[in-house]
Amino acid sequence: LTDFDYIIVGAGSAGCVLAERLSADKHTNVLLLEAGGKDNKFWIQTPLGYGRTYYDKRVNWSYSTAPDPGLSNRQGYWPRGKVLGGSSSINAMVYFRGLPHDFDDWASAGNPLWNWQSVESEYKKIENIVDSNGAIHGGGPLTISDPGNNCHSIQREFLQSASKINLPHNPNLIGGEGVGRYRMTIRKGRRCSTASAFLHPALKRPNLSLMTQVNVKRVLVENGKATGVVFDRRGSEYKVYCRREVIVSGGAINSPKLLMLSGIGDPAELHRHGIPIINPLPGVGKNLQDHLALTYTYRCTRKTLNNRLAPWWGKAAAGAQYFLTRRGPLAMSINQFGGLVRSSADRDYPDTQLYCSPLSYTTRTRGDRSESVIDPFPGFILSYQPCRPLSRGRIRLVNNKPDSAPAIHPGSLQEPEDLDDIVRGGRLCERLIQTSAFQSLIDEPLNSQPDQLDDMGLVEDFKQRAATVYHPIGTCRMGPDSDNSVVDQHLRVHGTENLRVIDASVFPNLTSGNTNAPTIMLAHRSAELIINNA
Ligand SMILES: Cc1cc2nc3c(=O)[nH]c(=O)nc-3n(C[C@H](O)[C@H](O)[C@H](O)COP(=O)(O)OP(=O)(O)OC[C@H]3O[C@@H](n4cnc5c(N)ncnc54)[C@H](O)[C@@H]3O)c2cc1C
Repeated sequence: LTDFDYIIVGAGSAGCVLAERLSADKHTNVLLLEAGGKDNKFWIQTPLGYGRTYYDKRVNWSYSTAPDPGLSNRQGYWPRGKVLGGSSSINAMVYFRGLPHDFDDWASAGNPLWNWQSVESEYKKIENIVDSNGAIHGGGPLTISDPGNNCHSIQREFLQSASKINLPHNPNLIGGEGVGRYRMTIRKGRRCSTASAFLHPALKRPNLSLMTQVNVKRVLVENGKATGVVFDRRGSEYKVYCRREVIVSGGAINSPKLLMLSGIGDPAELHRHGIPIINPLPGVGKNLQDHLALTYTYRCTRKTLNNRLAPWWGKAAAGAQYFLTRRGPLAMSINQFGGLVRSSADRDYPDTQLYCSPLSYTTRTRGDRSESVIDPFPGFILSYQPCRPLSRGRIRLVNNKPDSAPAIHPGSLQEPEDLDDIVRGGRLCERLIQTSAFQSLIDEPLNSQPDQLDDMGLVEDFKQRAATVYHPIGTCRMGPDSDNSVVDQHLRVHGTENLRVIDASVFPNLTSGNTNAPTIMLAHRSAELIINNA
């Protein structure tokens, strides 16, 4: 195959941004390789289609974790996008920048380029924020919209109950502390993934080539330098070379897997699978972090989205509304309101994220097919998520075959501080639930309630029921030292030239909120570092 300047592996949140940025110079030839296919499916483009793509193996890697001792040995379901746009094409579209101290912690872990001040100015370059009255802030390519009065009316009681227990209101919930309406990566009623915002406009350029349905098996390394990649397409194997750099953007599960298959990783792990060691980097696959949330589900005293979306005639009406106006429940994320708050006034930072959704559902499994089914009664949910867990997990190989899924060991709740976070978050929910505004919404609680549980009971309930919020990061950690980290702060792999990892796997620590915005910001800033040859 023709030589390129850059080969990017993975057209996800990060890969699409990089492809656009690097191909902006018409003298630079970029090849983008993606394992999944096109993103033109209706349920990808339609925001509430989230429920459909969640289990759809045609667009989703649909991983399962190993039994997780911290979660009562349960195996978690970990969806990841396998399609143009990657996980930004199947995610819940909540846009949240993270909190300043999250990035200052990146900087103090030996990555001064990523302090909050630099990160904040990068966010401003990517954002195009559309208020509910149509006013626009920022000229970036990524549309972030305020759902305004398209939000369900139980928002009122949620905000009243938060105010009653002194949680601050945040009218501009793209970052910072407080509760309010979530902002969503939605443009005119359609999902604004990084494929829509960055990749598709750039594909008009003759110097950007895209191949889909391509599984990259290995990075080629000669004399300590990455020179290209090996990939499979429709059963045949190909090699493609580049003049400058290979950039791995496969996400927090697949990037460490690809490095290990290429001989870059913990020598013991590579040895176990008979993979020749090219670059002994013990940190590859370690430092896995994720957010976990617990959900309280209620039968509601008022009609919720269940009433509109459970019966066939309601679905038809919502579909018609969407086709005619691009509004209504199909044009929204399921996470409509919530925010980042302190579980108690003495916390230094907001430590708990809340989600409230005017919808409830259960999972139905038939054979190897699962689907989310909206409850046939008015329901709503309240979830909470500790923001900065200290426990760490690991991605391992199960064998040396590129087609095998890696083993995901989440390592949840191994650190005692994480259990303290659960108790504080549970008590915060208890205070919120007990307010008269919240109580006015409850017809019947459908699972255990925090006021009925002592602290050990809260932890046990969390272990039995909590699930991922789909924010794995950290498995190719950024840092100055090759014993503990995989890439330096310019995201160059320690010990192998012309090779970078740029995606959520390089975060040294989780950001306090959702991880799509920080990944996009990271890719945007990294492209500048590459262009400036830093
Ligand atoms: C169900 C779900 C809901 C979420 N909700 C939210 C939310 O509401 N808000 C938010 O901020 N974040 C959310 N997230 C998280 C957020 O979307 C991710 O953190 C972010 O998309 C990660 O970006 P990435 O570039 O690291 O990886 P990805 O976007 O996952 O991209 C990786 C890409 O690489 C491709 N790839 C991998 N391996 C190979 C290979 N060997 N060869 C070729 N291609 C390969 C993949 O197919 C994929 O397209 C959610 C995630 C999921 C899955």
